Amino acid sequence: MEYPDWIWHNGEIKPWADATVHVMAHALHYGSSVFEGIRCYDTPNGPAIFRLTDHNKRLYQSARIHEIDIPYDLATINAACREVIRKNDFKQAYLRPVAFRGLGGFGLSADTPTDVAVATWQMGAYLGEGVLEQGIDACVSSWQRFAPNTIPAGAKAGGNYLSGQLVAREARRLGFGEGIALASTGLLSEGAGENLFLVFDGVLHTTPVSAALLNGITRNTIMTLARDAGIDVVERDLPREYLYLCDELFMCGTAAEITPIRSVDGRQVGAGRAGPVTLKMQELFFGLFNGKTADKYGWLEAL
Ligand code: PMP
Repeated sequence: MEYPDWIWHNGEIKPWADATVHVMAHALHYGSSVFEGIRCYDTPNGPAIFRLTDHNKRLYQSARIHEIDIPYDLATINAACREVIRKNDFKQAYLRPVAFRGLGGFGLSADTPTDVAVATWQMGAYLGEGVLEQGIDACVSSWQRFAPNTIPAGAKAGGNYLSGQLVAREARRLGFGEGIALASTGLLSEGAGENLFLVFDGVLHTTPVSAALLNGITRNTIMTLARDAGIDVVERDLPREYLYLCDELFMCGTAAEITPIRSVDGRQVGAGRAGPVTLKMQELFFGLFNGKTADKYGWLEAL
């Protein structure tokens, strides 16, 4: 990846080289950060940040769970997101707001000041070139997600991503495009950094937030677009074997967008390529950014 020229850091835009953190920062040692991943799309009406406010609201929710006090309000973080994209002269970009415990002690309960930054970079298809069309081969990870009341899966916190790294690295090491984790119950949870949708008889099924997953904004977008298009959506617990039985399967997330899964654990899913419901959801989702899907919920927030 190429790093950007400018970063928003603690209230100002700085050259990339000046946006640094000390090695004694609390977050570096303990994972005490919360963050977001947001995309800006170059739409026919100009660049627009997709569900900027919803993402940044989740940033504050994650911070609240972990008692990380963000010393800026939502409007300031939204403005920082816009400013850093404009300053880098990007039209289409990925945004990464992050708030973390900085310098001020090493006690686990230390009340250190919170540092806040917004980085941005240009990102294509997260899981690789051509995957949105061709799909990926996934595997069920040998690593499970955190059990309830251990690490809160509903917070998008830095430390949680040690789990995601184990899942993603194991999958790549074994030659798969991405890993799917089970919850501590043994039921399906989510991908390393993506939520899951299975299709049975034209109906979308997705795992519930009780399965230790991040309440994804893309997941919510897909559920909303599907219902508006007359496609039923069911949130339900699903056992692993349903991965092998479903007609279609895809992963979704801000980075992964809608990535079809053509096989799991070496077993072909459905016809082994994106099926009609997956293609329809891709059409509706990407239609938001090419002007073919009406933005009836005001999800596109102008740059
Ligand atoms: N689950 C995890 C663990 C993730 O990291 C992400 C990406 N943020 C998602 C699901 C999808 O969430 P969203 O659609 O809000 O990007």
